[in-house]
Amino acid sequence: MERFAQTNADITQIETIGHTAEGRAIRAVFVTNTDHPDQNKEIVLIVFGRHGDELGTRTVGLQLLEWLASPEARDVLINQQVIVVPVANPDGCATQTFGLPANRLSTLEKESIIKFGLSIVPDLVLDVHSVGKGKYGYNWGGLEAVIIDETARSGEDPYILHTLADQMIQGAAQKGYPFLLHTAEFYRNLKNKAATLTDGAFNNHVNQVFYDAFHSLTFGMEVNHFVLNPQEAAESGVAAIAALLEAGNAVYPWEYYAGYPNRIIIGDFQASIRPRGETAAIRRSSRLEIWAQRHIFGSIAPYRKMENDHSLDLEFAFHGARPLQGGLTVGTRLRGQPRIKRIEANGTIPTYAAATDVCSTHLFIDFETIEPDIHNKIYVEF
Ligand SMILES: [Zn+2]
Repeated sequence: MERFAQTNADITQIETIGHTAEGRAIRAVFVTNTDHPDQNKEIVLIVFGRHGDELGTRTVGLQLLEWLASPEARDVLINQQVIVVPVANPDGCATQTFGLPANRLSTLEKESIIKFGLSIVPDLVLDVHSVGKGKYGYNWGGLEAVIIDETARSGEDPYILHTLADQMIQGAAQKGYPFLLHTAEFYRNLKNKAATLTDGAFNNHVNQVFYDAFHSLTFGMEVNHFVLNPQEAAESGVAAIAALLEAGNAVYPWEYYAGYPNRIIIGDFQASIRPRGETAAIRRSSRLEIWAQRHIFGSIAPYRKMENDHSLDLEFAFHGARPLQGGLTVGTRLRGQPRIKRIEANGTIPTYAAATDVCSTHLFIDFETIEPDIHNKIYVEF
């Protein structure tokens, strides 16, 4: 880690984010292109080695740093601040023992990874593990997997997460590693049957915290340290992660701005409440403000109705104690690419943007602030 930071001092910074019971430092490696301003960057947190006997995961972190320093990652470093924690549990790593509770977060994790992650507000979080022969008494037979946690049920999150997971799986496939999309169902069944696991199950505890706090996109991953040698485990993990990081440079069809598609807070592709802002940093703080208060919008927000085939109405109300300082953006989608004749928001002409995909037009209508308990109305004629 230190050798990497010395060799790549122009793109790297190391921060100590905690110490273990035995006094080992837990370190985070920040990698980005410092010629480009941070306010335009997505923030990514990738955690390896929480479980000390999972030898495969610790090889991936260091290999990922090498990839980030390669020409292939040029655009990723321009658009993103990537923060890698190569070994989250150095004591477990040193003794090659699991070293942390399987069914909840340890104090160590709360004081290091969680505290640190809450301070950086990640857009994307990856929690990378590995399996071998005999994990929990099961032989996983060479399994490598991307895992979608059971955390994500807002907006179009299940669709969005599957879309991104597919890109990770395709990225690994192109390097010769057959990943699957794993489910946490097995672990939930275990919990239901035997009450052996008390909460969350599987490896999603870190992810749960960041989803709940920030609506971060989160994935678990398993590489394999039994049928794969360390170099193969590293290569397979980097293949899947690199594909995801490259996906974070793209503009998704249902978004106006580039970056990780974590911005549908309420609603769906047809009608949604989203963060507002022209930079990644402003959108991030707007996302936090709306996400924290998502439960105090009206029951269907925004409610969309069409009285005919050339206009639509959208309505929503926000019931917070104070106005939404960052405002919000309302998204809506029209079939085809009709000419937009008129848009009104609460009786005035709003700022709006439009983007088209293969079959539709997405409109993004800005509200600079939102006052509590106002019946907000949008009218679109096309
Ligand atoms: Zn694990």
